[in-house]
Amino acid sequence: MITLPEKWRSGEIAIIGLGKSGVAAARLLRREGLRVYASDSASSDGVREGAKALRAEGADADIGSHDLERISRASLVVASPGVPPDASALERAHEARVPVVSEIEIALRALPEAKVIAVTGTNGKTTTTALVGHLLRAIGLDAIDAGNIGTPLAAVAMERKPPRWIALELSSFQLHDTPGIAPTVGVLTNLAPDHLDRYATVEEYYADKKLLFRNAKTISRWVVNGDDRAAIDLAREAVGTHKHFSLRQPDADATYDRENDMLVVGGSPLLPRRELNLFGDHNVANALAASLAVMIADKGNATPEARARIGDGLRTFHALKHRLEIAGESNGVMWINDSKATNVSSTLVAIQGMTRPTILLLGGRHKGEPYRALVEPLRRNGKAVVAYGEAAPIIEQDLRGVVPLERLGSDFDEVIARARALASPGDVVLLSPACSSYDMFKNYEERGATFKRLAVGGRQ
Ligand code: ADP
Repeated sequence: MITLPEKWRSGEIAIIGLGKSGVAAARLLRREGLRVYASDSASSDGVREGAKALRAEGADADIGSHDLERISRASLVVASPGVPPDASALERAHEARVPVVSEIEIALRALPEAKVIAVTGTNGKTTTTALVGHLLRAIGLDAIDAGNIGTPLAAVAMERKPPRWIALELSSFQLHDTPGIAPTVGVLTNLAPDHLDRYATVEEYYADKKLLFRNAKTISRWVVNGDDRAAIDLAREAVGTHKHFSLRQPDADATYDRENDMLVVGGSPLLPRRELNLFGDHNVANALAASLAVMIADKGNATPEARARIGDGLRTFHALKHRLEIAGESNGVMWINDSKATNVSSTLVAIQGMTRPTILLLGGRHKGEPYRALVEPLRRNGKAVVAYGEAAPIIEQDLRGVVPLERLGSDFDEVIARARALASPGDVVLLSPACSSYDMFKNYEERGATFKRLAVGGRQ
């Protein structure tokens, strides 16, 4: 059963975007017997298949265009996160004063019993969400990872017996259209300017992130990055209990005792840092945030037994694909795939996380940010830079003279061959491109998979 206001149920519900989450929302609404019209401006194979499946379930579906008249008459619009706010279908819905919500909103209304740990922030959302889910399962709880991380929440809502616990990754776009969000615990990993292609200003972007706190109550629990002034400020007014994780402040609720190489939560040691199989301080922050969120979500999660299991969970967690993932080691050289690093700040934390001389593969489609921010960590950990793809000339200009730099074209085989030639035993070859992949690959996943195959013939 989904609890929807009568006025939302009374007419046809228009789904904009037939990606995974749009299709899942349409299915969930059809299961309730509601009238559904789904449309997508694209007509790729995936969209075509989604439309076909929905038609079989009694929904109407258009691909290649939207019937704007029909959308303006809908009683509710469900928008997919990938649809930009200035898309004609959404503009028409707003003009016609049709309420617009996300697939998450619909799904939450079908999951009233769920205990949700919601994760948002600029960086580290997926990793932290995956950690939260993994730690909940390590304690023995029935938990699933959902939202932006992969499985749509609406698909979870359709399971015969949905899991009690949900680790939910939320983007700012999803938060924008989820008026009912009221998590058991809300996590804000950090804040930095991003998505300025979709937001007019940073303030607008931060305002959407702030919507995580829109239904804050005294029983609400929040986990916020104590090293991030902007994050603390954003959370400040939210009612409820605030807990902080920090890499620097020894008295934070969860902290990293660098001297003793220990992750500490609630004043007690949780796990030696060296037993966490993740590179970089940013991942220590992610692990602290996830552990803290799980522990404060329920009394039973903070008992000595549960803490021991959380420690085991941290020990057995491995990097997600394309995020500082070890591709393999050959001839004493470690190859690391960080293809998901598509902006300068993620490449920065990647280089900072390296402990061996590093040959950095940097390049792809330039996104506008200067590469100078990489100078200092490169001086410390960099052995060489191989600049490639469309961005190569700009990278060369920004980083010339910092460490030896070779500028190549757009032949990825050649990039790998040069990296191999430059590397000696004990070195790392790090693909952390700080650029998008679209000049040479379909997406970052394909770039990472190609890197792994060429580098070490590794699994993909
Ligand atoms: P998101 O889902 O927010 O994009 P991911 O967990 O997928 O985050 O990580 C994407 C990239 O962001 C990683 O490759 C890493 O370089 C960087 N990153 C991850 N966690 C953090 C963090 N806590 N702070 C800064 N950068 C991070």
